[in-house]
Amino acid sequence: MQLTRTNPIAEHSGKGTIDFAERQAEELADTLELQRISSLLIQDGDVAALYQNILDAAAAIMHSDFASLQLLHSDRGRGGELQLLAFHGFTPAAAEFWRWVRTDSECTCGAALRAGRRVIVPDVEKCEGMAGTADQATLLQTGIHAGQSTPLVSRGGQMLGMISTHWRQPHEPAERSLGLLDALARQAADLIERKRNEDQLRQSSERLEGILASISDRFQTVDREWRFTYLNAAARRSYAEHGLDSDALLGKGLFEVFPDSPVAAELRRAMDERVEVNYETYFERWQRWFEGFAAPTPDGGLAILSRDVTQRKQADVALRENEERFRAIADSIPQLAWMADSTGHVGWFNRCWLDYTGTTLDENQGVGWKSVHHPDYVDRVAEKFERHLREGKDWEDTFPLRGKDGQYRWFLSRMKAIRGEAGEIVRFFGTNTDVTEQRELETQISQQAMALADLNRRKDEFLAMLSHELRNPLAPILNAVQLLKLQQGGTEIQRTAHAMIERQVSQLARLVDDLLEVSRISTGRIHLQEERIDLRGIVERAIEATRPQCGRKSQSLAQSLPDQPVWVQGDSVRLEQVVVNLLNNACKYTDRGGHIWVGLELAGAAPTPTHPPTLPPHAEHQPPEFCTLRVRDTGIGIAPELLPRIFNLFTQADKSLDRSQGGLGIGLALVQSLVTMHRGRVEALSKPGEGSEFVVHLPAMSSPSQPSIEAGKSENRTLHSLRVLVVDDNVDAAAGMAMLLRASGHETRVAHEGAAAMQAALEFVPQVVLLDIGLPVVNGFQVARSLRREPALAHAVLIALTGYGQESDRQRSQEAGFDHHLVKPVDFAKVQQILSAGGQKE
Ligand code: ADP
Repeated sequence: MQLTRTNPIAEHSGKGTIDFAERQAEELADTLELQRISSLLIQDGDVAALYQNILDAAAAIMHSDFASLQLLHSDRGRGGELQLLAFHGFTPAAAEFWRWVRTDSECTCGAALRAGRRVIVPDVEKCEGMAGTADQATLLQTGIHAGQSTPLVSRGGQMLGMISTHWRQPHEPAERSLGLLDALARQAADLIERKRNEDQLRQSSERLEGILASISDRFQTVDREWRFTYLNAAARRSYAEHGLDSDALLGKGLFEVFPDSPVAAELRRAMDERVEVNYETYFERWQRWFEGFAAPTPDGGLAILSRDVTQRKQADVALRENEERFRAIADSIPQLAWMADSTGHVGWFNRCWLDYTGTTLDENQGVGWKSVHHPDYVDRVAEKFERHLREGKDWEDTFPLRGKDGQYRWFLSRMKAIRGEAGEIVRFFGTNTDVTEQRELETQISQQAMALADLNRRKDEFLAMLSHELRNPLAPILNAVQLLKLQQGGTEIQRTAHAMIERQVSQLARLVDDLLEVSRISTGRIHLQEERIDLRGIVERAIEATRPQCGRKSQSLAQSLPDQPVWVQGDSVRLEQVVVNLLNNACKYTDRGGHIWVGLELAGAAPTPTHPPTLPPHAEHQPPEFCTLRVRDTGIGIAPELLPRIFNLFTQADKSLDRSQGGLGIGLALVQSLVTMHRGRVEALSKPGEGSEFVVHLPAMSSPSQPSIEAGKSENRTLHSLRVLVVDDNVDAAAGMAMLLRASGHETRVAHEGAAAMQAALEFVPQVVLLDIGLPVVNGFQVARSLRREPALAHAVLIALTGYGQESDRQRSQEAGFDHHLVKPVDFAKVQQILSAGGQKE
């Protein structure tokens, strides 16, 4: 549709008098023109077409070369901004320049916007307000020399936009044209407003429809007669799923379709009382749960919004069932159980808790549980509990809780944080286990353990004491034997008896020694006197010591020792004891005529327990790190079940066996202790009936940096007569020792207690004093100190005789002034060794 100027409006001259007939004709023409324009304007079309029609009509009315239509956006800028909607005759640059016109613009539309009424500029060039402005320049560039802008005002007096016309020449529009323009402007304002309202309505209803279509909830409306008037997409989908045609539903009554509606009462109440209602219901026919909301609509009907909540309901039911199951389990466990929320508020306690404490759920809520805690512990418990809660850590504590009988019992309480999928703490679950009996048992056990330890200690003390006491009578017997030995001659019977006594006493002495070792092993009181030694010498001496024993059983004793020294750092006495013990056992547990073999070798690397290395002994470039000693026999062997504990104290194969072997089950324990103390390792390999092999691994030293000490080999010194004072309260022991000394060419005196000893010493001025420590009244240490104070005795050699051979005992005797420390029963050879060295000090 295009407005044309086919029926041009006669221009109002504004000059001279117009006659009446002419005016009537003009008015008629104007009215007709307006009617024509109106009819064009009200024709259907989109809003853009309407704007163009208005624009064309204005240009026609005003006989203008240019025209523009602007819409006011009162929310923009300061005082609103005009948006160019349609134009006629503008260059693209001009259209761009006036796309948005603000209130401070100097063009006619800007001025009209500020003024709120029409503004006419008959000559742009001469217009003072425009002089020098960008508007003036743009107008002139576009070829515009005159213009007017007329506001489009709604019936309510609201400015909606602007209609402007422009001319190429300076121009003063005629009154008549302006009158027609005003009429057009009013009509255009009405139309724009109506169009705009319609558009807004359409947009909002489209928006609403869009929203309703997009929501997953079912939305439907019914009129006051309950007839369906609208169903959104979700409602349509839902009906389709249940075989209902939505289009067919429209117009039908709700209760006609759903006579079985479970919410009929609620919906009727909403309709009748015009109130909103909420409901949640199970619709039997579809076997689904629905949650809904109905509200009255202005047309007298109802809008109903509902959603299918079956899944949530099922999840709720599952959750509830789970929870019930959990509670059933939690109620059935013997522990007290409870649950706290993520803040630590304890809100649930199991039946066991309530039964034990005799409290109710309400009484325990929050921090009510504290009331059953023991007042002495509750603060500590609560502090630790709260700290763990804050840090979100699992918690464990043991404390007493009061039962309904008023008695406290001990509980071990544990709390675990239960976390959600994101790792957040959802709740805490705790259990309290009654540990009263366990604690009592633990107390009992620890008391028993203490009693046992005490018993064990007393046993050790008793063994130590017993062996000590047994040694005392042994010493004089040994001395007597030695004495008899010194006497030549005697009958065959005497010699046999003598040999028998010597053997038996030696055996007895060994048993006593073993007993003494037990207490040393069990108390860890064995001290090594380490030095660099050639292990070959040790092995040789041990073989020599055992040879007679083997000889008596007609056993062969073979040895395989390397040619070069096997240096180890160790205590020669103790290492000899290790080898002797192993050889003794080999001899003891091997039948007559059996074979015993001792081997010693150097190995390059530390051995593994299962495969002891057997590297050649001459590994020149790789210094040996270990040496291996093997003692093998063809004896009875060791049962597999005994093998793992063969090195334990008192382990013996069969205790009911004939005790002729006379062992106490100590030897191997001692071997292991001593080897371990030497940083080594011992193992036993055996099969019953196939003999046994004991393997000792010891750290070896690569080369000697110090001269070797051939342990145990004493220099032969010439013996010369010395004055020796023997002090011992055991009369036999003292007499025996004195006899032995005299038989060896020394001069002796004997005393049995401290005071007599002092007196004898002052008279006799001995060069050597053999002094028993365990004297009655004044002990040996005190006597030694007194002797040392006497100038005449200052250089005498003092030898302590004692049952105690510990390092600490030696230390003590040294502090008291002793030069030597001999452990009873005293080996006379040792005494002779000291005396032959001229009684020199250690
Ligand atoms: P004892 O020999 O005094 O009984 P040991 O500690 O020396 O104590 O030995 C413990 C036990 O190990 C022995 O009683 C014996 O049963 C077993 N045993 C030790 N050495 C051997 C061996 N060479 N052959 C067979 N059994 C042995």
